[in-house]
Amino acid sequence: MPTPISTLPPLAATPVPAEIRLRYVLEHFALAYPGALISVIGYADTQPLVEIAAAGEAFFEEVKPYPAAPNWREWQGQQIPFFFDQPEKPLLVLQAEKAVIAADLISAAFYLLSGWQEYFSSERDRHGRFPYAASVQYKYGFVALPVVNYYFDVLRVAIEHVSGQPLRPRRWGSQKAPFAAFISHDVDNLRSAWKAPAKAAWQQRQFGRFGRLLWQHLTQPDAWDNLEAVAAATAQYEAESTFFLLSVKGRAANGTPNADYKLAESKFWQRLPAQCTLELHGSIGTSTDAQMLRDEDEEILDALGVRFHYLSWDSAQTPTTVEKCGFLFDSTLGFAEHYGFRHSYCQPFYPFNFERGRAANFLEIPLNVMDATLHHPHYLQLAPAEILPALAPVFAEIKRFGGVASVLWHNENFDPANTRNGPRQFHEIMAHLQAEGAAFRTGRDIWQEFTAEPAANS
Ligand SMILES: [Zn+2]
Repeated sequence: MPTPISTLPPLAATPVPAEIRLRYVLEHFALAYPGALISVIGYADTQPLVEIAAAGEAFFEEVKPYPAAPNWREWQGQQIPFFFDQPEKPLLVLQAEKAVIAADLISAAFYLLSGWQEYFSSERDRHGRFPYAASVQYKYGFVALPVVNYYFDVLRVAIEHVSGQPLRPRRWGSQKAPFAAFISHDVDNLRSAWKAPAKAAWQQRQFGRFGRLLWQHLTQPDAWDNLEAVAAATAQYEAESTFFLLSVKGRAANGTPNADYKLAESKFWQRLPAQCTLELHGSIGTSTDAQMLRDEDEEILDALGVRFHYLSWDSAQTPTTVEKCGFLFDSTLGFAEHYGFRHSYCQPFYPFNFERGRAANFLEIPLNVMDATLHHPHYLQLAPAEILPALAPVFAEIKRFGGVASVLWHNENFDPANTRNGPRQFHEIMAHLQAEGAAFRTGRDIWQEFTAEPAANS
């Protein structure tokens, strides 16, 4: 793991009251299990039917990023880490018309889902991001498990016991698919496929080859100018591509490259099939600057969603920035360094806005898989044949809990020259998702379906 290279000054204490934590968690539970009777859940002081031990209260009085090590227990055949647990007691005791849970699942779910560790940790990587290496998911090895969904499953069993009401995870669409899949493409580069081979030819003094590549570049479309082909590739699975477009060309002030194309001039996106959705890929700096983000958005009409370039995210400032610009959803929150669950949750959720002390008003569709993560000098180096076997268990967890599998495949990785994390690996993933019964949805569709009035749990 690369070591974090920068640190931030410590934040002032901003306690989140117990009732806000409880409400934040239970509202998400009700979204995961539509129609659930959440009013029966509480701490002992309210004498609820589902009683949860208040073992995590003291942690939230302080501003530490990490709680004590979790206690591992088996639940539904899976080893699950329980934070704020009482290991000497059984996890769940079912009595006549009452259930008692020994782990403080409300505190544990709030801790993971809110991203508390990111807000209170001062560690950042060279791109200013919270590093996977600093996370509890890395430390305790559970990034590929949606642990909060397992906590909710314990609550489900308890509620079913006291209410007699069977609960089922969310289903997707009129066909009631067991999970959804969101396929997106960040468009960073459209014009640069020729550069790496041309540079290599020049360095190897193969001047004839260099000349041919340069001539091709000047007379033919670039191999990465391929958005129609990308849309056609996803359409083979009756899926619709969502493109996140950058509206700033060239290097940002800190030297990080933005797009290699000029969005306002090229209008290439107008050639795309009508079913493709265009959203905003916020350039470097926009994740903490609402005015800059708003100005960029005005270049693309009707962007309802955003994902930040380089997965830039500052948990202290970005939620308010996204809210100020009125986006309905974001899809930035995954670890660049590892596939899986950055907030240990496989459904869309409302990020916690620590600055405002409440849930944010936009939906997060968390990012589970990014192509670059799978093979990159700084991330994983999976062989092509290892990719689907690594991801299949993650998709199985998402299916188990009715979540959304969010997959980001950059358009440049549809270039047949990429045989590591290229088109072939993309097609393997898509065929797998289709065979598993995923309902392919755009980010907008997911927002619409997720925010609709909850249907009765039938
Ligand atoms: Zn990008």
